[in-house]
Amino acid sequence: MIDITDHLAIIERRVAAAFARARRPAEGTLILAVSKGQSVEAMQAAYRAGIRDFGENYIDEALMKMERLSHPDVCWHFIGRIQSNKTRVIAERFDWVQTIDRSRVAIRLDNQRPGDADPLNVLIQVNLARESQKGGVDAAGLTPLVDLIDSLPRLRLRGLMTLPPAELAEADLRRHFLDVRDLAREHSRPDRMLDVLSMGMSGDYEIAVECGSTCIRIGTALFGPRRRTRP
Ligand SMILES: *Cc1c(COP(=O)(O)O)cnc(C)c1O
Repeated sequence: MIDITDHLAIIERRVAAAFARARRPAEGTLILAVSKGQSVEAMQAAYRAGIRDFGENYIDEALMKMERLSHPDVCWHFIGRIQSNKTRVIAERFDWVQTIDRSRVAIRLDNQRPGDADPLNVLIQVNLARESQKGGVDAAGLTPLVDLIDSLPRLRLRGLMTLPPAELAEADLRRHFLDVRDLAREHSRPDRMLDVLSMGMSGDYEIAVECGSTCIRIGTALFGPRRRTRP
């Protein structure tokens, strides 16, 4: 039986050490529990341990879990590939979308966000390595998408998200995270700060925190191995 409280304590300790190494003020890194393939029971245990933010990749799986983990203070992040025909349910049911990478999806989410809900918090997914099997825009594609989302009243652009190439050497991984941080700074303005950086997963979150991450997306290091794949 995996003890999520113990895992969380280890992660928090390592995050604090990474903050100290980077001389960053030890505040403000969200631990997003990536719960795809994990049971609702494990998510309940994470909730009891203090987790409030959950990340899901697949709509049907997420909706089932929302029914069963219905605490009003849970915050749901969509972190999977977005199909255009699934935007309505994302706009209606999620608090954050971390994987916007094209204008068509942004426009649909803006149209479909219910009027009585707060604006949808969004991150643009960047793909600086231009890996074709992953979503995300490159540096050139980022500027027009930032400008578009700025003009959409039902979306609130908060920052950038990255899923770096697997197997990067540590120095290259650092470079990648720092490049994303710099891009976010370049595209920030006083009235619209891109101050959320969703970078780092179970295998590399300490490096990501050292490079400025404010949201680490942790699946297996928190929950253990995923038991179910895509439903
Ligand atoms: C699955 C997933 C994660 C979590 O990966 P772990 O290695 O289990 O921590 C993080 N981000 C995204 C986008 C994912 O799809």
